[in-house]
Amino acid sequence: MELMSWWIFKFQFKIYLYQFMKRVVKCDKCAKQFIQKWVIPQKNWSQINQVAYWTDGKKWKTYRLFCRNCLKWWFECERETFDKLVTDEAKRRTYFSYRGHGALDKPDYLIS
Ligand SMILES: [Zn+2]
Repeated sequence: MELMSWWIFKFQFKIYLYQFMKRVVKCDKCAKQFIQKWVIPQKNWSQINQVAYWTDGKKWKTYRLFCRNCLKWWFECERETFDKLVTDEAKRRTYFSYRGHGALDKPDYLIS
């Protein structure tokens, strides 16, 4: 019984800590540093900034991480590449809904 509650405590504490997990990353295009957050339900780093997430793993030059500004730039100024690489319908819808709701206009969590 005691062992069980210790285990539950440990588990809850881990979940609690995840809320604060974040790491500093650098945008591969504009070299701006920003903070990427850990997303608990997905058990992964926030995917919005990951180029491979949108392209289903397809590579685009050496770009891996984009800040929100560059995500916006991708569609607005590199439309052809965007259409070629982001082919998954669900992901395109997600992107457009982020864009439509102004999520890409929000600042990333800047550290400098
Ligand atoms: Zn950028």
